[in-house]
Amino acid sequence: MKKLILLSAMCVVAAFTNDATAASLDDSCNGVYKKWHSNNVTYRASAVGFPSGNDYRKALGHVITQFNKNASNIRFSMQYDEASVGMGNGENEVWWTSDLGAPAVAYTWKSCYWSFGWKHKITESDIVFKNTVNYTPNVEYGIRGNATNLFPYGGSSRPFKTTALHEFGHGAGLGHENGRYSIMGQDWDHIHRNYVYALAYLGEDANYALRQLYGNNSSSNVQDVGVVHWKYNGARGAYSSHIRTKLYNTSGYELSYNTVNGERRYYVYPGQTVRAEFTYENSGESSQYPTIHYVVSTNSLITTYDTLIASTAFTLNPEGSVYTATRTVTIPSSLNVGQNYWLGAIMDPNKSLAEKEENNNATYIPIRTY
Ligand SMILES: [Zn+2]
Repeated sequence: MKKLILLSAMCVVAAFTNDATAASLDDSCNGVYKKWHSNNVTYRASAVGFPSGNDYRKALGHVITQFNKNASNIRFSMQYDEASVGMGNGENEVWWTSDLGAPAVAYTWKSCYWSFGWKHKITESDIVFKNTVNYTPNVEYGIRGNATNLFPYGGSSRPFKTTALHEFGHGAGLGHENGRYSIMGQDWDHIHRNYVYALAYLGEDANYALRQLYGNNSSSNVQDVGVVHWKYNGARGAYSSHIRTKLYNTSGYELSYNTVNGERRYYVYPGQTVRAEFTYENSGESSQYPTIHYVVSTNSLITTYDTLIASTAFTLNPEGSVYTATRTVTIPSSLNVGQNYWLGAIMDPNKSLAEKEENNNATYIPIRTY
């Protein structure tokens, strides 16, 4: 049988090509998507770039942990202290270099061949990060990091973990997405936040694509619902762009705001009825009907101890569509005037669903009363 060895480079910076299709999966092999032919894939991290005790080594471990929460069968493992890294050496490796045209690149070797049907097999994946990018490993709170120094929150650092998750998505066979909120679109604003905690996560779209390639996880029942204050904002070349979810008046016009630390803080008055927009994701294996609570908080840490102002429930299918919607809520008339508050949404507040990820169930929109 004849094997074709192809090299494809996928980068995280929009190349602005004319290829604007929602290319989540690659079927350039006679209609067969490329994938690993094993569910367990080992990467090796450079000893120089990810030494013992280094925060990027910790961050890389967190990224693998986050990746392995996916609802499909593909699982990655990471070995460290690899002395010799390079492309095309038959090993899957991760390293840093200054010689890169993008903040990070995932190189994928694949083989398209016929063996009682067309096969499209990934044979090697190398993930390379540019060491002159102002990344932050974001390991301040374990798997979560400090949001305040990040691009999407008015900071100057690019979150390493969102970039790395995007690249490991390529490593699993995923292409770019430009039709919905997705880690395979622009990665750095595909992120969950509550209080100062930022969490990099794969999300519904990537999970759906992985389930298409590798099937629903057969060893455990992987479920995860979440809510974020980000949403899809149109295609930018091959990439989805994202923007914050908003607060509207009852006519659907965005409320006035001022921008604080990269976030819109909306002006509301006590007793005002508003429409709060959030994005709800189902990154698990099966449909869910979670309860969602809307609360008002005196700080940005949204918990079930905050003041409940509305409750709803709706079906969330794990099919990659990613549901962004507004819900009408009334700001309590008891709030003080001239004070900052946070309007929160809490998914599955009673924890009735056993989830692979419990850190992405509450988020906020900043408000200020007048
Ligand atoms: Zn990419």
